[in-house]
Amino acid sequence: MSTARENSNRCRACHLVGGFRCDWIVGDRAAPHPKRCDRPICPDHATQVGPNKHVCPEHREAWEAFRVARREAQEAAECAQKPRPKGAENVL
Ligand SMILES: [Zn+2]
Ligand SMILES: [Zn+2]
Repeated sequence: MSTARENSNRCRACHLVGGFRCDWIVGDRAAPHPKRCDRPICPDHATQVGPNKHVCPEHREAWEAFRVARREAQEAAECAQKPRPKGAENVL
């Protein structure tokens, strides 16, 4: 009996033994148990995105886009919360 499935922790990018797994969520983020990429990645190719969280090179761009979108949403929310200076419109 043999399994054709490759059972290794090797980094997909450079074939070094990976020390991390990609934590990027693929599919429905709202699901109770979201599916993760789970790809093995070595420290060289892992991008740390949080405490004990890493993404593979393939998902780094997705993470960057997600981070930018989240920051813009935060800034927009902060802007909306700022009280407008009263009477500022009347100052020349
Ligand atoms: Zn690597
Ligand atoms: Zn990934």
